[in-house]
Amino acid sequence: MASIYKTPDELRMMVPAGVLTSRALDAVEQAIRPGISTLELDAIAEGVIREAGGVPNFQLVEGYSHTVCASVNDAIVHGIPKDTPLVAGDVVSIDCGAKLNGWNGDSARTFIVPGDIDREDAAGWLAEANRVSDATRAAMWAGVAAVASARHLNDIGTAIEKATLEQPGPLGILENYTGHGIGRDMHEEPTVFNYRVRRRGPVVKPGLAICIEPMLTAGGPEAVTDADDWTVRSADGTLAAHWEHTVVRHKDGIWVTTAEDGGAEGLAALGVVPVAIAG
Ligand code: MG
Ligand code: MG
Repeated sequence: MASIYKTPDELRMMVPAGVLTSRALDAVEQAIRPGISTLELDAIAEGVIREAGGVPNFQLVEGYSHTVCASVNDAIVHGIPKDTPLVAGDVVSIDCGAKLNGWNGDSARTFIVPGDIDREDAAGWLAEANRVSDATRAAMWAGVAAVASARHLNDIGTAIEKATLEQPGPLGILENYTGHGIGRDMHEEPTVFNYRVRRRGPVVKPGLAICIEPMLTAGGPEAVTDADDWTVRSADGTLAAHWEHTVVRHKDGIWVTTAEDGGAEGLAALGVVPVAIAG
């Protein structure tokens, strides 16, 4: 097996792919509104990536032909874009990746479609949507921050789990879906668990490039897969969220490749300051 540790040059080459992934998600964020479909959001993300000379790396995954995964409401991950118009209050997790100059970025954000929610339980719905999304984002940043100080990979999963348990519950941590290494391929070794496991895992040291991607439901941890063989939903029908960043550890610190600021804003409250990879 190839080494999971990359050279400083290799880590640096991952940055443009990460920034492009971030810009595709920015475009989705700006476009999302009632009436637009996830298929239209998919086309917007693809346009941003292709215009910059990149390739939507999800299209390189066997059997998948879209640029993003779009998981709506009780769908957690791997939702397929559809032509159904979104409505205000929909909880939409968009997972997106770009390959540029041979290197990959992979990132996900959960959006709540703005506007007046046409439901009897609108206030409760919105509160649950924010609760699960905020908890997932907090768990992600805790995992990213842990990359700076972790000695072994299990320290990162432990940090993600701890941060999840600190959020107002109930929350379900998906067991069979994890983060991963990333580089020339979008999915590489090692597996990055979103919870503590028995094995301490590989050493976390300069050269490691991984995706931190907690997936949470607002209820239990059980998930079911739709008849389309892709869409993963909460078994209890509760709302779900998915946040993901690509982060690298280098000799001077960490850098989030899929954030234009390297993760500075998200990490500020956690006392970690990202450091650009030296040239
Ligand atoms: Mg992803
Ligand atoms: Mg990923």
